[in-house]
Amino acid sequence: MPGRTAAPRIAGGGTKVAAGLVGGAGGVGRAGRREPPPGPGGRGGRGAARGAGARRAAGRDDLPVGVGVAGLLDLDGVMRFAPNLPYRDHPVAARVSALLGCPVVVENDANAAAWGEYRAGAGAAARSSLVMITLGTGVGGGLVLGDALVRGGHGMGAEFGHIVVDEGGPLCRCGNHGDLESWSSGSALGRMAREAVAAGEVPAGSPLLDGTPTGRSVTDAAHGGDAVALGILARAGFWLGVGIASLVNTLDPEVVVVGGGAMQAGDLILGPARAAAADRIAGRAYRPGVPIVAARLADAAGVIGAGLLALEARY
Ligand SMILES: [Zn+2]
Repeated sequence: MPGRTAAPRIAGGGTKVAAGLVGGAGGVGRAGRREPPPGPGGRGGRGAARGAGARRAAGRDDLPVGVGVAGLLDLDGVMRFAPNLPYRDHPVAARVSALLGCPVVVENDANAAAWGEYRAGAGAAARSSLVMITLGTGVGGGLVLGDALVRGGHGMGAEFGHIVVDEGGPLCRCGNHGDLESWSSGSALGRMAREAVAAGEVPAGSPLLDGTPTGRSVTDAAHGGDAVALGILARAGFWLGVGIASLVNTLDPEVVVVGGGAMQAGDLILGPARAAAADRIAGRAYRPGVPIVAARLADAAGVIGAGLLALEARY
């Protein structure tokens, strides 16, 4: 909007709240302190206060605010359900707007991250389309088509983590068996490692035997050359690639960006994903290749995306 060059953005994930001032080109100045997530009962005020503080510090109380939250939002900014937070039918947009006294744009955090990567990160060279997948505790998704964020008919689309790729696979907390989240999330990496330990498949001396393995310990062990950890990443990457192939076949994006904590594995998970996807993209010899690349903005993607969405909104 004319005269507006930056927007504070408040991001609330499962374990933290982050706020920052976002410039029109996607640059961000961040407040570094972590706090408990906002939620019913007044805790949302902490995130709102941080956004207000960032605006005051910049001398720009006129700035709009973008908010990213982890959960299913409807088109009115009401959080219908959040898997990791105590939200049920919580009016996030109305609540934060009332607290700050200004217009507020609320977006699913994975959608916000997708917009951030599209405008200012790994997808910045794309003309109009991007698929983003985040491999964290769960698997999130975001979709840009026609130079616009695609939210679906009810605001709840692009949940790529729950695409079933292996009907006989592990149970996801959503009730599906063998969806992307059950095979390729950080949690899935840890689960596969614990299963390997329980099955006696981990040889003595493997770092996976040091305490209870997590997704992080799998990626660390794999970078150290641990064969079991590398095999786990190969399996997670294979199913990720199967899912990506279906997304490419149905949506035809210019680029697929993969982010989230499990991307500490880098090409150890993306390599198998690229190979599995390449084998399954229809007519692949006759169409442009779709790069599958690592996200560039890390934790800042959601902050930048929500800030830009607020800047670009029309009130
Ligand atoms: Zn699921």
